[in-house]
This record gives sequence, C-alpha cells and structure tokens, in this order.
Amino acid sequence: MSEFEQKVLKLLEDINGKLDSLLKGGPAASSPSPAISSSAPTPAATSEISRLKPSELVEKQKEEERLEEKPPVEGRRVCPECSGTAFNTVEDKSQVLHQMGGVKIYAKKYVCRSCGYEM
Ligand SMILES: [Zn+2]
Repeated sequence: MSEFEQKVLKLLEDINGKLDSLLKGGPAASSPSPAISSSAPTPAATSEISRLKPSELVEKQKEEERLEEKPPVEGRRVCPECSGTAFNTVEDKSQVLHQMGGVKIYAKKYVCRSCGYEM
C-alpha cells in the first residue's frame, strides 16, 4: 500500500470516528455499549426514523387519517330534477356488472325519494 493510500485511509477513519460521535450526540468514548459500535454501526432504519422530527411524524399521521376519512359518495348525490338529496339505492336489473355461478351482480342506481328520478 502506498503512502498516499495510507494517508487517505487514515483520513477516512478520522471522518468515520467523527461521524460516529456526531450520530451519538457525544464522543464515542462515553458510549456505554462499545460492543455495538465496534461490531456494527447504527442500523440505517433506526437513524432514518430518528431524523424525523416529532412534528413531522404527527403531520404524517394526520395525512394518513385524512386519506382514510373520504366522504361517502352517497351523501353527495343531488337530484337534478328537484335538488333533493335523499335517494333509495336499487339494483338496476338491466345492467349486469358481473355474473358468477348463476349469481348476478347488478349495477346500482339511485332513485330520488321526492320525485322518483333515477340516476
Ligand atoms: Zn328528485
């Protein structure tokens, strides 16, 4: 190994040590578990999670909740004839969506409770 390569290696080791102490938030010497740091560095997954701020985690959770709370489609229907919002759901026997083993699944249609308009 050339002198240059040894110098580079030494530098890399120095950087590695500094990174270690930065990740642990203090000098490596104060670590209570030297066995872990020598055998395997901190798993990538753990450091990934710890990089997220608590506020970011909360935001993520809120976003997931929003995705689950989609408004039901039924509640948004408005009759074009009388502007009524109450509908009966009936099977449209003229439209077979799916047929399997003699069981037919029909398309659904909505009948306005006020004027009987079908949509
Ligand atoms: Zn209507």
